[in-house]
Amino acid sequence: MAATVPQSAEHLVIGAGVHGLATAWHLAEAGEEVLVVDKDGVAAGASGIACGVIRNNYFQPAMQELMAACVEIWESDPEAFHYHGSGYIALGPAAQEEELSEVFERQQRIGYDSELYTGEAEVAAHMQEMFGDWRAEGLTVCLHERVGGFAFNHESMHGLADKARAAGARIAEGVEVTGFDSDGSGAVTAVQTSSGPVEVEQVVIAVGPWIASLWKLLDLPAHIDVHHPDGSVERDKPMWTYWYLQEGEVALPPRTLSTDDGRESPVLHVDSHSPLRSDSGGLITDEPWGIYVKPDRDSVQGGAAPLPVGPEFEVDPYPTGSVDPGFPDQWCAALSHCMSRFEGCREHYVQVRSGGAGAFTADNFPVFDRMRDNVYVAADSNHGYKMIAVGREIARELQGEHSTLLAPFRFERFATGDLHPVSQSPYPWS
Ligand SMILES: Cc1cc2nc3c(=O)[nH]c(=O)nc-3n(C[C@H](O)[C@H](O)[C@H](O)COP(=O)(O)OP(=O)(O)OC[C@H]3O[C@@H](n4cnc5c(N)ncnc54)[C@H](O)[C@@H]3O)c2cc1C
Repeated sequence: MAATVPQSAEHLVIGAGVHGLATAWHLAEAGEEVLVVDKDGVAAGASGIACGVIRNNYFQPAMQELMAACVEIWESDPEAFHYHGSGYIALGPAAQEEELSEVFERQQRIGYDSELYTGEAEVAAHMQEMFGDWRAEGLTVCLHERVGGFAFNHESMHGLADKARAAGARIAEGVEVTGFDSDGSGAVTAVQTSSGPVEVEQVVIAVGPWIASLWKLLDLPAHIDVHHPDGSVERDKPMWTYWYLQEGEVALPPRTLSTDDGRESPVLHVDSHSPLRSDSGGLITDEPWGIYVKPDRDSVQGGAAPLPVGPEFEVDPYPTGSVDPGFPDQWCAALSHCMSRFEGCREHYVQVRSGGAGAFTADNFPVFDRMRDNVYVAADSNHGYKMIAVGREIARELQGEHSTLLAPFRFERFATGDLHPVSQSPYPWS
């Protein structure tokens, strides 16, 4: 039976992922009438497949401030959000010392609870205090965030949906948006859906990796000029580029990763320049490598370097559960490189429903902005499972307030050159 939708809505939110649901929750709490539509269902997109890492470690001050606000929301109801505040640790080689030190200093300024360890011996001692079998070499900087951690993707999104519904929002699943009707000023008057048209006052677009198709329906540019702070201009850059995030699991109990005193492990993110070998000694890579790992529901889960895909990518059906053939060897070798408890873990590797694609903007940072008078776009450039506070800020903006947290993520930055500083990391996620 086709899903039904009302003929009109004050606020129509497209997408039942973290941003759509959080926006709906806060709008409804403020007494607004909200309808969320999703072509599939709650958590059907990237928010339902995300590894669930919640960290503050970003080189960009605006990202750090936003992430700090997000952690406060995660911490406000750990049970409903299935949030585990076990913390987050970033470890790196000498090349990362300066940037992680800057991140740490800003964390101290904004009151974010963290510690910095530098020098190989000090870093190893800190890690061995938690994990007696820690044995990774060549790591000379460690940023230990005492807050943040991880949450379980599906469960947390259903917790968020429950909050939105309890506040009065309606969520219509199985309703696909197919077009927009506009008036002479460009404002959207009605949204065309697979269940018929809905007249609207405000629209919020929060469709994760599907953003390119709705962007096109709004006649927004597929290519843009990107102005840099030094005055240089990159002409005609694709607005959207896809990366594929590789993730997998070892079917070992989540407690395998526990600290020696029995606590849940912080999320571990290791970047290294040390040669990586398999347990039998074969060289896996002598290039720099990076991984992250965390406890999952019944296993140990994590990922590694994303694969660049390019400006074109088929997101339907949403691809998940595949990795580069070398990924399992590399990820398992990296776990064993760090802790002897993971020796032999390669035989426990399983390729489950994990990994997936993300749509990145022209500068790899989010665009949170009104792209038409009554159309707000939340395009998080694949940074955003952790960004649960964005919806609260969008709701405030829709009610006429100004959000200082979202201001640095306006679309106009590409024209004004107010871009975010870029880290040395080869990946678009830091
Ligand atoms: C493998 C992977 C791991 C990740 N790990 C992390 C992590 O550890 N930490 C982190 O912070 N971030 C992580 N991310 C990024 C994060 O998942 C995304 O940035 C975030 O979930 C995007 O949320 P969203 O609400 O914008 O979109 P989504 O969660 O993708 O939701 C969009 C929804 O829109 C619906 N939709 C699409 N088109 C239409 C349409 N035309 N009509 C109606 N509905 C439509 C979809 O069905 C979907 O449910 C990861 C991403 C991937 C792919």
